[in-house]
Amino acid sequence: MTDCEIILVGDELLKGERHDAHLPWLARVLAGVGVRVARAYTIRDDADEIRGLIAQRLGETRLLVITGGLGPTPDDVTREAFAAGFARELEFHNPSWQAIVARFESYGRPVTDANRRQAMVPTGGEVIPNAHGTAPGCFLDGGDTLGVLLPGPPRELRPMVERDVLPRVATLFHREPLRVETFRTIGVGESDLMTQFGDALGRLDAWRVSSLPSLTGVDIILTARDGADRGALDEGANRMEGQLRAGLGGKFYEHGIRSLDRVVHDTLSERGDTLAVAESLTGGRIGAMLTDHAGSSAYLLADVVTYSNESKVKMLGVQPEIISEHGAVSEETCTAMAHGVRRATGATWALTTTGIAGPSGGSEKKPVGLVYLGVAWDGGVQAHRVRYRGSRDMVRTRAVYGALWILLDRLHRA
Ligand code: ATP
Repeated sequence: MTDCEIILVGDELLKGERHDAHLPWLARVLAGVGVRVARAYTIRDDADEIRGLIAQRLGETRLLVITGGLGPTPDDVTREAFAAGFARELEFHNPSWQAIVARFESYGRPVTDANRRQAMVPTGGEVIPNAHGTAPGCFLDGGDTLGVLLPGPPRELRPMVERDVLPRVATLFHREPLRVETFRTIGVGESDLMTQFGDALGRLDAWRVSSLPSLTGVDIILTARDGADRGALDEGANRMEGQLRAGLGGKFYEHGIRSLDRVVHDTLSERGDTLAVAESLTGGRIGAMLTDHAGSSAYLLADVVTYSNESKVKMLGVQPEIISEHGAVSEETCTAMAHGVRRATGATWALTTTGIAGPSGGSEKKPVGLVYLGVAWDGGVQAHRVRYRGSRDMVRTRAVYGALWILLDRLHRA
């Protein structure tokens, strides 16, 4: 019998019209109460399929979570299928209906008869109120398996899970949180990491080790083995952290799950420094990422997208001769952009990107993927020449993370 299985319902997930947001989030919060997600299924809005799968998983998993398809329209069939899968009838639940009516009144819209379907609950079910939408969820005790029915929109589902589902699951399982330690690196390949640290990782007896490479770096993830001793876990994780720090320096940038842009955001905020960015090939992505974080106005003074040569001259004061002599993609232009944006804004730090994203525009001397990343500060400037491989999008994404990383590296040295 598995701990937990999840059924994600929705044609849009299978047509590629929407990314699933539930599994990664649910897996993480359930791990927080010690529960492992063993399987996940993505299936169509088809009542027979949903019912059949639920009936098949009953007794095979202690927790069966089903999401999506609780709306009022005829293609929303999960509620009926959920009840049928557990061999229950649906019955009208007046408190849920009153909540739906009140919600429609607050919108100033008339409630429709179709919405009455959303107030139907399987017999013996226990309603999970939905504070952010019309469709309530429900717990259903199926003997060995507890069913949990939840609506599709993440902004509705997440508060319901946090308020009602996690406490219930924690009482059901009585587990310690699953311990997971994440070490995030950038600028080293997975195989180089394994060559350098494979032996040390292999000696972590209390931990199961995995590595997760992405476009932007490699995460080393330690997951506690069942029954592992707490002292051995702490000792192993601390030892590994020390070894990564000694061996990788700034390329090991996070013990935890903060993203690189979040670490840069936190570091600048803590220091009270300011930043100005001038982007060419990355077209504003650096500023977009940093401004995703509340509080970025405390340090981000400007992000200028200087895509043309002329804008580099007019807006950043790059001398035209520098561009005509060395080209827009050059160490000299990158450095001049960094000085220029820093001068114009008075920021403590300047960060710049210029490069050839492709697929065209490359030459033998300046191939597609050639990127210069610049950072300037009081009394110094540095331009890094890098060569990224892959599609236009990959080159641009790598350039964004490369730039954030060289800034972070400098911040740590300052
Ligand atoms: P509603 O009452 O809003 O209709 P619902 O429970 O019926 O909620 P759906 O109709 O399946 O949910 O989907 C509502 C919204 O939630 C849609 O925009 C859908 O794409 C989104 N959604 C459903 N499942 C997921 C998922 N796994 N990840 C991200 N979004 C999802």
